[in-house]
Amino acid sequence: MTAPLIPAAKPQIGWRERRAVDRVLRSGMIAQGPEVAAFEREFGEKLVAGRACVAVNSGTAGQHLGQLAAGAGPGDEVIVPSFTFAATGNSVALTGATPVFVDIEPETFGLDPAAVEAAITPRTKAIMPVHLYGHPARMRELSAIAEKHGLDIYEDAAQAHGASLDGRLVGTWGRFAMFSLYPTKNMTSGEGGMIACDTPELVRAAKLLRNQGMEKQYKNEVVGFNARMTDIHAAIGRVQLTRLTGWTAKRQQNAAYFDRELRGVVTPPVAQGAVHVYHQYTIRVTDDRDGFAEALRDEHGVGSGVYYPIPNHRLPSLAPYAPGLDLPETERAAAEVVSLPVHPALTARQLERIVSAVNTVATAGA
Ligand SMILES: *Cc1c(COP(=O)(O)O)cnc(C)c1O
Repeated sequence: MTAPLIPAAKPQIGWRERRAVDRVLRSGMIAQGPEVAAFEREFGEKLVAGRACVAVNSGTAGQHLGQLAAGAGPGDEVIVPSFTFAATGNSVALTGATPVFVDIEPETFGLDPAAVEAAITPRTKAIMPVHLYGHPARMRELSAIAEKHGLDIYEDAAQAHGASLDGRLVGTWGRFAMFSLYPTKNMTSGEGGMIACDTPELVRAAKLLRNQGMEKQYKNEVVGFNARMTDIHAAIGRVQLTRLTGWTAKRQQNAAYFDRELRGVVTPPVAQGAVHVYHQYTIRVTDDRDGFAEALRDEHGVGSGVYYPIPNHRLPSLAPYAPGLDLPETERAAAEVVSLPVHPALTARQLERIVSAVNTVATAGA
């Protein structure tokens, strides 16, 4: 008899979130309004050192609008990793610019600075690092390269709320940064995204694009979208924001426990000066990763996830942007990674079960 499955991810929704939603519903004002404005302010203060934020209805929309606001479009190239969620490359393609996929460094799965520099052309507009799994990308090196070549940095911080490098928060390194608020991320608003902007001009451009190009009602200045967040979603996000610090600490404690106890697998290193917020705790299994994940689930009731099994440059959707491209570290990571449950709802008993399951399966395969 196996114990009930330990899920790979588990959104934390409690009475405070329900009460906040009820407050908005009772007010009768549910579209974008005062809750969204308060959420933007509070998010900016807590997570991006006071940068101005623009809330939108998904992380992908944030990434798309952020790039349009920053002027990316047809004829431009934006350098992105292939080892990420498809939204990264999709958001570039949707602006009309070309996503240029480059390889990652194998330690923390971020953009490899040398590979980035080699991919720069006269059309390169920006570099978009992803702070994958909650670990900051190599921002010192990438910022230096951007500066040297006159390029912008756009940050995909979808998975990295509160992560930092050398004491500087992710989301404060680029022209803009996008945070996702999807239910499985470190905090959620149901669906949603936040664009952290480095200038008032960018804030204004992003706000116009969010709302049909209007600042004043029916005086549309540019062609825009409806990418607004509702006050219902913002109310959930505001509560979650107050709980994030505690959750992140719990994720980090869970990860420290795994670091100490796991055997026979490659545990995730943390770069010097980095604060990892463990959106995922991702190990490498060099021999038969899929069999390993199956044994965890079927024999031990431990769920896990593979993020991401197919590199973006080989997806039917994005492959046309990358004919004949070979990214060896990306391929190796796609074949070896598996993410264990690390979410803040895990109990001590469940953490022990995960360790014992991993160690049993890892040694059985040796
Ligand atoms: C979740 C995610 C996105 C997209 O965010 P959504 O809110 O789902 O639209 C983009 N990039 C990465 C790396 C993500 O994990």
